[in-house]
Amino acid sequence: MNKPFVPALVAVLLGFCTAAIPATELPRSSLVPGGVAIVRLAPATAAMPVAHFGPHRVMVVRHNGHWNAVVGIALDIQPGQHAVSISPAGRNPRRYYFRIRSKKYPVQRLSIRNKRFVSPSPDDLRRIKREKQTIETLFRRWTERDPIRPVFTRPVNGRISSPFGLHRYFNNKPRKRHSGIDIAAARGTNIVAPAAGTVIEIGNYFFNGNTVFIDHGQGLISMFGHMKAINVRIGQKIRRGDKLGEVGMTGRVTGPHLHWTVSLNDSRIDPTLFFPTP
Ligand code: ZN
Repeated sequence: MNKPFVPALVAVLLGFCTAAIPATELPRSSLVPGGVAIVRLAPATAAMPVAHFGPHRVMVVRHNGHWNAVVGIALDIQPGQHAVSISPAGRNPRRYYFRIRSKKYPVQRLSIRNKRFVSPSPDDLRRIKREKQTIETLFRRWTERDPIRPVFTRPVNGRISSPFGLHRYFNNKPRKRHSGIDIAAARGTNIVAPAAGTVIEIGNYFFNGNTVFIDHGQGLISMFGHMKAINVRIGQKIRRGDKLGEVGMTGRVTGPHLHWTVSLNDSRIDPTLFFPTP
């Protein structure tokens, strides 16, 4: 390549990247169950503070000259006043308060042809219990990563066929809340990483089918379900946009789609809050 072209190419590539991900490097604040609280902490001249929300360590991001706690708010939290606490060495914890308001999520009724997924057998129930423990352990992980970019690009091109937080009934039986989003796409459509991270688990799960977990760092974990093919291995480091696998319909599904759960400080939250604002 000719030398004069290199700076021009770099400029074009930088321009392209900036267009794809705008300068705002924080998720959108949504002070409701299933949302995210952005809590402004000390000026970023000081060392990165260690912040907790309840028993969980929380993500801290440098933004506009300050440290900001990025707090996941669980679906079952009580609305009202809550606080992030910072523990300086040898002093009482400093608290930063924020208020969570209530939110009504819609009801969704689905009909599943395979009865096994609605009324599982005793063997299935044992498997479900085991898998639930594995999943809960994975969502509780904490990995240091600084700086971190808590911004997601879409893992699949497609429409959101089932939004976050729905109260669900399968064949008229009440079941777990929808703690992720569904993106409808044809079987075999590529699924790519919405942000950088490390693959911490792959496997076949009763409800979620073929599943991949990615640890993005600082308590931010993605789970991708119902996949047809998995193209990554445990321990693999991945960049934003790397192929993880393909859309399928394994596990409890009514059609081909990607189910994507995002957990932040062990709270399942709406992944679309991490999409750049248009
Ligand atoms: Zn889903």
